[in-house]
Amino acid sequence: MNYIRVWTEIDPQDVQDHIVIVDDKFGFCPNCKTPGIDIKEMKKCPGCDREFKYVTSREAKGARAFEIVMRTRRKLPDMIFVDYDDYEKMAGRKKADSLFNGI
Ligand SMILES: [Zn+2]
Repeated sequence: MNYIRVWTEIDPQDVQDHIVIVDDKFGFCPNCKTPGIDIKEMKKCPGCDREFKYVTSREAKGARAFEIVMRTRRKLPDMIFVDYDDYEKMAGRKKADSLFNGI
């Protein structure tokens, strides 16, 4: 098996609602800001109980991206790996939208 990047249509809200950001060993819930979630028990957030279906990592950029994605996928084979740049863009756009809607 190998890893290639595939573009697919996806509901940005679903990603926002079910994503966890991981580093080497731990996860961070962007919803309730719980840090240090054990990667082995990463089915749902111990803080806000949201189910995790997507995973991304700040480290998955540039030359190391491939290695990080492989490592994360091995630990969390049931989750969909979202490119961090895409996640950031999406989250930024959402923030901008909500600011705009608030006017
Ligand atoms: Zn949470």
